[in-house]
Amino acid sequence: MPADFSQGRQLLDTLRQSFIAQLPTRLAAIEQCWVDCYMAADPLPALHELLRLAHSLRGSARTYGLMPLGEAAGDLEDEIRPWPAREALPDSDARTHLDGLVAALRRAAQDIPGTLPALSWVPTKVAAQPGGFVYLLEDEPAQATRLASQLAHFGYPMKTFASASALLEAVERAPPVACLLDIIIADDAQAGIELGQQLHRRDATMPLIFTSARDDIEARLGAVKAGGQAYLTKPIDVGGLVDELDRMTGRLASTPYRVLVVEDDESLARYYRALLRDAGMEAVVESEPLKVLHTLTEFSPDLMLLDIYMPHCSGAELAQVIRQHGAHGGLPIVFLSAEGDPDIQYAALRTGGDDFLTKPVDAKVLLRTIAVRAQRARQMSALMARDGLTGLLNHSRIKEMLIAEVARARRGNTQLALAMLDLDHFKSINDRYGHLTGDRVIKSLARLLRERLRGSDLAGRYGGEEFLVILPDCDRDSALRLIDDIRERFSQVAQCGNTPEQIFNASFSAGLAAFPWANSPENMLLAADAALYEAKLQGRDRTR
Ligand code: GH3
Ligand code: MG
Ligand code: MG
Ligand code: MG
Repeated sequence: MPADFSQGRQLLDTLRQSFIAQLPTRLAAIEQCWVDCYMAADPLPALHELLRLAHSLRGSARTYGLMPLGEAAGDLEDEIRPWPAREALPDSDARTHLDGLVAALRRAAQDIPGTLPALSWVPTKVAAQPGGFVYLLEDEPAQATRLASQLAHFGYPMKTFASASALLEAVERAPPVACLLDIIIADDAQAGIELGQQLHRRDATMPLIFTSARDDIEARLGAVKAGGQAYLTKPIDVGGLVDELDRMTGRLASTPYRVLVVEDDESLARYYRALLRDAGMEAVVESEPLKVLHTLTEFSPDLMLLDIYMPHCSGAELAQVIRQHGAHGGLPIVFLSAEGDPDIQYAALRTGGDDFLTKPVDAKVLLRTIAVRAQRARQMSALMARDGLTGLLNHSRIKEMLIAEVARARRGNTQLALAMLDLDHFKSINDRYGHLTGDRVIKSLARLLRERLRGSDLAGRYGGEEFLVILPDCDRDSALRLIDDIRERFSQVAQCGNTPEQIFNASFSAGLAAFPWANSPENMLLAADAALYEAKLQGRDRTR
């Protein structure tokens, strides 16, 4: 996300200038087309083309704030529109009128000054990335030490305070990413809640979590009134706490949305791309409708912006093709067009679009529409692709990703590592502490994987207590260091049994495979499985 918004605005101005610079070429094309309507043996293609050029100019001119030019192009478009449908050339009255409109269009273009005042639009603010400490109010040293060491494994360093006044003082000096407040401090049954109220008054956006041995409604209500966003009873399940922290600090929602823009008007396409990139999204433009299926597969966007009027096929037809293509059935499609006719909009939506925005599209409306739709689509596809217990990719999705990544490594001649992880003696953990505790152990490993892996790495739950980790662009030695570091950390995580006294440790064994030594997805799985078997044979809690 570029921090300098003025840079983005400058880019938009540059685009508008280049649109203006290309205007003479566009006008010449329109005029040539108008001539062709009378010179060509079959005038219909020329009429269709003229309609398209006028429509496109109308949309882009208005997007760049050149309203008189947009209106002139719109008048021309409206006047031509009935004729191709009648398969007839304009009669002589209409022809005189159209001559006048083409001339008016040229005049409108000539009236545009060489330089224009800057475009005004407000970039959407994206929440700042969290950093820094979690502050803990806790007067039992053992409890504080345990929480601090556990949270550190998940990337949340912690500072502990034994009194409310000490914590308040620290907040004044450096605000934390979140506060975790025990409710009963010394003999004061309300201490945490009173501190929460003060913190909340000071900064209402500060994430507050209450923890307590109290589970009564008064304590819970007090916590809510003090602005608490979560309430955890003791003994604290570290997994649940990390989930809350992730949710409140927005850590999980940080990958930018990917948007595919299908727009035949080059200048407009660049405008949208600049706008989206400036708002922190990834945007790719495809100006040839017939290449869209290929681009969809390569880029795998969260959402597609689709122009309605394009050469070779309409946006509505293209949407239908995409909907019939199983792999992209869930992709949100937002139509963009200068088309104001509700009937045509409705027809386009019926072919499989999700929304319709009319050009000129207000930048804020566009960005908000994209964000809302892309977020919901991500949630849906995450639900389908993810394992319910751990939130990692499920068995079939992680296998698909392995196939895709091997293909990519082969194309790009790059390296790729695969790790297969299996919890040690997991059956006896279930036997000793029960299935629910076993589930918590599985979740704690999943969380650690998410925390320690890079954004490009992929982790999936391959089976009950088996995991796959795909590491693109990673050689075997680096993979060994990374996975072994995770193994080391995991073996130190204190797992909670059914009572606060029941603390135990779990471990896993891992087997590695590397491309191109194992040269196919199947062979990588076989090699990783064989290495895992070795690790188990050699005593478990190791990486081979
Ligand atoms: P090893 O070190 O050789 O891997 O021993 P192990 O006991 O982990 O191996 P085994 O494959 O014999 O047992 C795996 C156990 O994991 C059996 C199964 O009941 C348990 N398990 C599988 N899925 C889940 C799950 O989702 N939750 C829980 N709690 N247990 C599970
Ligand atoms: Mg178009
Ligand atoms: Mg197993
Ligand atoms: Mg096992």
